[in-house]
Amino acid sequence: MLPASRNLPAEVRDLLATLGVADALRPDGALALRSPIDGSILGRVVTDSDADAEAKLARAQAAFLQWRQVPAPQRGELVRLFGLELRSAKAALGRLVSIEVGKVASEGQGEVQEMIDICDFAVGLSRQLHGLTIATERAEHRMMETWHPLGVTGIISAFNFPVAVWAWNAALALVCGNSTVWKPSPRTPLCALATLALLRRAQDRFVAAGGSAPEGLAELLLGGQELAEKLAEHPLVPLVSATGSTAMGRALAPRLAARFARAILELGGNNAAIVCPSADLDLAVRAIAFAAMGTAGQRCTTLRRLFVQAEVYDVLVPRLRAAYRSVPVGDPLSEGTLVGPLIDGQAFAAMQRALAEARAAGGVVHGGERVDAGAADAFYVRPALVEMPAQTEPVCEETFAPILYVMRYDTLDAALALNNAVPQGLSSSIFTNDLRESEAFLSVNGSDCGITNVNIGPSGAEIGGAFGGEKETGGGRESGSDAWKGYMRRATATINYGRSLPLAQGVRFDI
Ligand code: NAD
Repeated sequence: MLPASRNLPAEVRDLLATLGVADALRPDGALALRSPIDGSILGRVVTDSDADAEAKLARAQAAFLQWRQVPAPQRGELVRLFGLELRSAKAALGRLVSIEVGKVASEGQGEVQEMIDICDFAVGLSRQLHGLTIATERAEHRMMETWHPLGVTGIISAFNFPVAVWAWNAALALVCGNSTVWKPSPRTPLCALATLALLRRAQDRFVAAGGSAPEGLAELLLGGQELAEKLAEHPLVPLVSATGSTAMGRALAPRLAARFARAILELGGNNAAIVCPSADLDLAVRAIAFAAMGTAGQRCTTLRRLFVQAEVYDVLVPRLRAAYRSVPVGDPLSEGTLVGPLIDGQAFAAMQRALAEARAAGGVVHGGERVDAGAADAFYVRPALVEMPAQTEPVCEETFAPILYVMRYDTLDAALALNNAVPQGLSSSIFTNDLRESEAFLSVNGSDCGITNVNIGPSGAEIGGAFGGEKETGGGRESGSDAWKGYMRRATATINYGRSLPLAQGVRFDI
């Protein structure tokens, strides 16, 4: 049950003041915000008109033209200072994430930690934005590539990672010499306003120390999908990184393609795990429980499909059912809670629809019922474990709620085929102690996903690796590894330091 004494609107006002955006809430704002924790109205925020968006895009373009001149390690210094601001504000911003999205306290804090981690990564990167020097076929020539800043980077984010996804993109974009324009989910504008206030603090410190960081480096567009469409269509935006549902990607990708703009698409997942007979079942139960029930099933990498080899099915599944029955569901701000609320009533209705379809397809549903937390406008559920006879609809769809479909398999080849037989291709896992099985899973004939884990669940990626997925997940990569290259443009230069003019491929053109 939710504590009767809790007053989330008052707490949010205090947090916003601490985070430097006391004026974020405005009674005349067009957008009303409801906390999924108790359904209370947190306040209203002002949205951006088309003219506002135009002005912000023009400011971002002007900022880009200055920022790209600043040496990359100095750009890294701004991101380093931002990381310091995030460290100081971690408790407050993490709490705001929990209140706006309903994440349990440690996940709200963890999201801010992810922002800090990507800042650290980007600071190092700011001295490593290097290209290759390439052997040429011509004497007295040198060939090299240089990575240049690209331009205004549009960032569209989903509700479920209201700050980390922006940071993954923005920290890289900023050290790469780009400016950013962010269109967050209309459900999470407060997190966005607070995040940019912290960046402004870092910018002030940077400028006070003699740095040059123009206004307009990080703009914010608050409102609905029309603003995302504007980013996708605007000629001043050469790159849009969009995180959200596959439906959103399907709507935006043609608009970007029509003007040959770059897209980093991070869309829906339908992630699977395979449990082999040799698996450490104690470890598998814990990993599956977190991956499938954590964040109330509202992560793009949430585990949604589980393939269990027939020999271990009757050992593993009863243990999972027990974990599902006992997992603490309720107030995400209370110590000990592991599963908080769904984002809203629509998410609850979508979950119930999927469970009804699963029953109609012969599935046996354990859990999935609403849990009464004492607030009519808050939607808590017991996570559902659904034993399915086969991978039929609705297993092939992403329902953004804690539903784990469990299926039996006989051969690893059959399990791999099932893993790959859905339209999405984000994350995947295998639980095995058999080298041949794990290597087969990781091989070209194995999982077709962007993320392939062994003895770890599919959710909870580290920032050091490139993050993203294949097929209807969109094919984008962000965060670590060489994802930074998506935010820059590459120029290949060939220099002739001799006196003759040999042509490539031995072509003759003597005049
Ligand atoms: P959503 O698609 O409803 O919204 C995401 C963003 O896109 C929001 O800013 C929204 O305003 C905008 N948007 C939505 N529909 C649009 C349209 N037709 N045209 C233009 N803009 C549009 O997603 P959500 O409910 O906020 O988040 C959940 C979804 O996001 C899930 O499908 C989840 O898997 C996905 N997600 C993916 C990743 C990833 O990295 N692959 C990460 C987080 C979430």
